[in-house]
Amino acid sequence: MGEGTYHPNENQVLPVPDPTKPYWRSELHDLDDFRSTPNLPSECDIVIIGGGMAGVTTAYHLLLENDTPPNIVLLEARQLCSGATGRNGGHCKTKVQTLVNLLPTHGPDGIDKLVNYVQGVQYGIKEIVEREDLDCEFELRRSFDVSITSRKENKDTYDEACKDGSGWTKQTWFINNRLAEMTTSVTGAKSAFSVPACSFWPYKFVTQLLQKTLNRYPNALNLQTRTPVTSVTQADGDVTNFVKTPRSTIKCSKVIFATNAYTSGLLPSFTDIIIPYKGMASHITPKSIVHPHLSNTYNIDFGPDKDVDYLNPRPDGGIVVGGGKWNYASDRDSWYNNIDDSTLFPPKALKHWDGYMQRNFRGWEDSEAKVESVWVGIQALTTDGFPHVGRVPGKRGQYMLAGFNGSGMAMILTNAKAVAKMMREEREFEDVAQEFAIPEWFGTSLERMTTA
Ligand SMILES: Cc1cc2nc3c(=O)[nH]c(=O)nc-3n(C[C@H](O)[C@H](O)[C@H](O)COP(=O)(O)OP(=O)(O)OC[C@H]3O[C@@H](n4cnc5c(N)ncnc54)[C@H](O)[C@@H]3O)c2cc1C
Repeated sequence: MGEGTYHPNENQVLPVPDPTKPYWRSELHDLDDFRSTPNLPSECDIVIIGGGMAGVTTAYHLLLENDTPPNIVLLEARQLCSGATGRNGGHCKTKVQTLVNLLPTHGPDGIDKLVNYVQGVQYGIKEIVEREDLDCEFELRRSFDVSITSRKENKDTYDEACKDGSGWTKQTWFINNRLAEMTTSVTGAKSAFSVPACSFWPYKFVTQLLQKTLNRYPNALNLQTRTPVTSVTQADGDVTNFVKTPRSTIKCSKVIFATNAYTSGLLPSFTDIIIPYKGMASHITPKSIVHPHLSNTYNIDFGPDKDVDYLNPRPDGGIVVGGGKWNYASDRDSWYNNIDDSTLFPPKALKHWDGYMQRNFRGWEDSEAKVESVWVGIQALTTDGFPHVGRVPGKRGQYMLAGFNGSGMAMILTNAKAVAKMMREEREFEDVAQEFAIPEWFGTSLERMTTA
C-alpha cells in the first residue's frame, strides 16, 4: 500500500493492506491514491468514513446544489473504492428468491416496497450517469434468475402474486422448463425469471463521480486516501466528534459511517449485527468474442445443496462471474466474520472457475474461455439481510449507512440521498424514508439491534 500503510492488529476490524486485485481496478483513476492536502485538516463540519459507493454518493448529495456547502473530509483506509464496491459483480437487481424469502415477514406490500425501492436506485444511478456524464459502461438491462433445479416454490409464489395483482409481477416474467435453456443459454436450465437490472463499472462510477464533485466544490470537499480511522469518540455531554487516525485527529460536529462490513471496528455495538463476510469473483474472457452477446446479467441457482452464482457479461465480450460459495462453505472461518481480502480461497475453490463458461453456457463450448483473474472482497452480512441506515442509535451527530449485503449496491443510492437530506435539514430517518419511499425496516434503531 506504499507510504502511510497502516497495519491493523489482529483484533482490529479494519481493511487489511495489499488486497487481491479485482478486474474493476485494472484502470486506476488519478484519485485512487489521492490526498487533497498533505496534512489532515484539524477541524471540519462532516467527516465521511469510507470511500465506496455509500460514502461517495453521500458526499455527492450533501454538496449537490448546496449554496452553503459544509466542509467535508472523506477518509478512506486504503485506496479509493478498494472495498466491496471495487470488487463486486457490478449489477444491481433483486432476485426473485429474495422476494420469496421476504413474503412471510413483510407480506406482498413489503415485496412491492423493496422492488420499487430497487427500481428507484437503478433509475437514480442512470440519472447520475447521464447528469454527470460518467463513462462507466452503464446499461439498463434485464437479468435472468436461472434455476438448475425445480424451485417450484418460487413459481408458486409468483403465480399467487400474479393472481393478487401484486405490483412486482408486472416487471417480472417466468420462463418455463421447455424454453428456459433456449432463452437463457444456460446449460441445463429448468426455469428462469426475467427481472429488471442495471449494470456498470462500479469503480469508474465512484471515482468519476467523486472527481466531478471535487471539481465543483474544491474548497468544501477534502479527500484523504490511505487514512484509516481507528476510533471516533465524543466527550461526555458534548456533540463534538474526535475522529482519530494514525496521521492526526479531526474534530467535527458530524460523522458518517459508510464503512459497511467494517462498521463494528468503529461502532462495537454492531459486532454481531453487521458481520464481515468474504466472497469471491472472477473475470473470464473467451479467446475471441462469442456472438451473440449475452445482453442480460444472471444469477444461476445451482440448487439447495449448492448456492447462487452471479454473472455480468461485459460489453467487450468478457464476463465477471462471482459466487461458488459451496466450494469453501464448510470452512466457515474462511469466509464468515472474515476481513481478509488479501488472500484467495484454497485452490479447490478456485477450480470452480475453470471452464465455467464452457460448462454452463450454450454456444461457449468451444470458446476457449480463460480465467483472467480471481479476487475476493468483503461484504456485510446482517441478520435480516438489510442495511442499517440513519442516526447511530444512542449517539448525537453520528449517522450511518452500512450493512449492505450481497446485493448491496442495489440498496445504496437512495439511502445516501436520504442520509444527506437528514443532515442538511436536521430530519429524522422515518420522515425522509417516507419521502424517498425507502422501506422503513432499513432504519437502524436500538430496538432493531436488540432483536437482530
Ligand atoms: C465479491 C462480491 C460481489 C458482490 N456482488 C455484488 C453485485 O453484483 N451486486 C450488488 O449489488 N452488490 C454486490 N456486492 C455487494 C456490494 O459490493 C456492497 O454491498 C457495496 O459495494 C457496499 O458499498 P459500501 O460503500 O457500503 O462499502 P465498501 O465499498 O466496502 O466501502 C466501504 C469503505 O470503507 C472503508 N473503511 C472501512 N473501515 C474504515 C475505517 N475504519 N477507516 C477508513 N476507511 C474505512 C473501506 O476501505 C471501504 O473502501 C458484492 C460484494 C462482494 C464482496
